[in-house]
Amino acid sequence: MPVDPDLLLLSTLPNAISLKDFVVLLDLDNQMNIPPNPQANLDGQYSEEQRFHHAIIVLRRIDMEQNGHDEYTKAKLAAYYLPQLVEKFLGPLPIHDADPEAAEDLLLKNAYMVMLQSLAGSPYMVKYLKSSYPIAGPGKRLLSVVARRLVLVGPRWNRMMEDHPKSKEFKDAAVIVLPFLGTCLMALRYVDGEPPKLDLNAKDGQDLSVLLHVWWMRFPDDPVGTISELICHNLGEYFEYEEALRLGAYQEPPKIECALPSCQRQDNLRFCKRCHNVKYCSAQHQKIHWYCEDGSEGLPHELVCFSTQY
Ligand SMILES: [Zn+2]
Ligand SMILES: [Zn+2]
Repeated sequence: MPVDPDLLLLSTLPNAISLKDFVVLLDLDNQMNIPPNPQANLDGQYSEEQRFHHAIIVLRRIDMEQNGHDEYTKAKLAAYYLPQLVEKFLGPLPIHDADPEAAEDLLLKNAYMVMLQSLAGSPYMVKYLKSSYPIAGPGKRLLSVVARRLVLVGPRWNRMMEDHPKSKEFKDAAVIVLPFLGTCLMALRYVDGEPPKLDLNAKDGQDLSVLLHVWWMRFPDDPVGTISELICHNLGEYFEYEEALRLGAYQEPPKIECALPSCQRQDNLRFCKRCHNVKYCSAQHQKIHWYCEDGSEGLPHELVCFSTQY
């Protein structure tokens, strides 16, 4: 059984931080009611650039975890913090007087985008984006805002990539934004059977399409190109789910069958009452999946099942 992530040291920062400190790093309300790790000395006095870099380090550390611990930690983060992360992302960032372009970059190159990207493949993201609860209201404009911000900063990022081909700074930033957008578009399309409508005016829509086509043609062999291609497809008529999986832009489809992997029944399914993220054909299969500690049925559902406010 994975270690409780509340106690886990999440990062390789000089003063390693725990999940408790993570809420301080990201300036979130502490939903879990846990005090910060007294040894970490985080005081929340971060510039947005520092937050961005620290969030990347912490998430890399989580991704290196084994035995489902990464999935467990991300499920818990998503269940507790998605609404706050989205509000922070959509809210005003501190003004960067010295450098207007750096301020513009912060619209997408920030810790909240990093977090949202890392949680994009979680079933909690779909639940949040589809939720009709008021707390999930800001999520209804999230994808459109990301797309509009990409229209704003993308052409300059593209020029920076051209002018400084050895610097990976802007390409790395694109590799955070694009998978987020691609994964969410795919997930919603998978659930609804049709692509979600982005709220873009005609010019922004066209500019986004041009930018994505440029990246698609220019980087055919890496995520910037392949995910640009995927998003182009998602915005248009063409859609191949298997192709998207091949491109690696979508991590795992929401289940439309009994969540017990060995079952696969697709009819008469009922939601897990606590998380509303997975469905079961019977109470018996729910019970097996809840505890299955021998690993034969994947991660026990007990570890990723959280009730949410959305
Ligand atoms: Zn079943
Ligand atoms: Zn559940």
